[in-house]
Amino acid sequence: TRELLVVEDLRVYFPVRRTLGEILRGRQRLLRAVDGVSFSLRSGEIMALVGESGSGKTTVARAVVGLVKPTSGRILFDGRDISRLDGRELRSYRRSVQMVFQDPSVSLNPRMKVGEQVKYPLDVNKVGSEDERREAALKALERVGLVPPEDFYSRYPHQLSGGQRQRVAIARALVLNPRLLLADEPISNVDVSARAQILALLKSLRDERSLSILYITHDLSSAWAIADSVAVMYLGKLVEAGPVQEVFSNPLHPYTKALLSAVPSLTPGGAARRRVTLKGEIPSPLNPPAGCRLHPRCPFATEKCRAEEPALAEAGKGHLVACHLYATP
Ligand code: SF4
Repeated sequence: TRELLVVEDLRVYFPVRRTLGEILRGRQRLLRAVDGVSFSLRSGEIMALVGESGSGKTTVARAVVGLVKPTSGRILFDGRDISRLDGRELRSYRRSVQMVFQDPSVSLNPRMKVGEQVKYPLDVNKVGSEDERREAALKALERVGLVPPEDFYSRYPHQLSGGQRQRVAIARALVLNPRLLLADEPISNVDVSARAQILALLKSLRDERSLSILYITHDLSSAWAIADSVAVMYLGKLVEAGPVQEVFSNPLHPYTKALLSAVPSLTPGGAARRRVTLKGEIPSPLNPPAGCRLHPRCPFATEKCRAEEPALAEAGKGHLVACHLYATP
């Protein structure tokens, strides 16, 4: 299977409101939310983009759907640079890439029947007749497990549970038959009891229609449960990436090791691994440390780590890591 999405050296910087002193000195401060991220996603692949808040993972997704403009770098979809699309091609791209947000109570309109909301993207895109659109919305509701769909069609979001609302959001993302779904913490506002079912639903959609999914999360257990591959972000950079089995059972980067140390039961042999604990908290992306961004917190940091930024390099088959500990001399 070929690459559906290729992200090349993506940077997204946001200007930050300046203090009076900075304005007088003519200084502009930038928040480097995403700072040189590259990865690719194949057709039918589920990749987990893992990181804490402030790591830049959501900004990556927002750049892919076009909600924020990259400062530099390229995003290729099906081989085409998305910044060069216009007219019909742009409309087709927008249909092919859909996003499911973290909180369905925010992304759904409280005053609109859920069936109408699922149908809405078809209305906007003038797909088929009114009857056909209604039929497609009912089918989508049924597909995401809201049965009987006729019942759910005329309900309002407040009449549904958090899990059901997220299913509506997924149905709405599906009606246009996208090829790529960006799911940003889709289960974090859902009852614990319904989380596994939402993940199973996403997986079954992938199996059924070769949908690619970029699954954005801070939660390693759900990444392990759903993803084929994983990319770990820290302060705007990718620090480690590869097949999820490989990365989680043989983590290399101290940051990934620390994240996994917090959930030793996750992977076979995980409990036997040496625990890695980081010092302090994640610093502000406004002032990322020089050299390796983890160095002030990393128990293995050396002089080189303070001075030189490690590049993401292959450490095993398809397993990439950005850490001087693994640099080949
Ligand atoms: Fe730690 Fe140095 Fe590796 Fe950064 S490059 S993770 S500071 S050992």
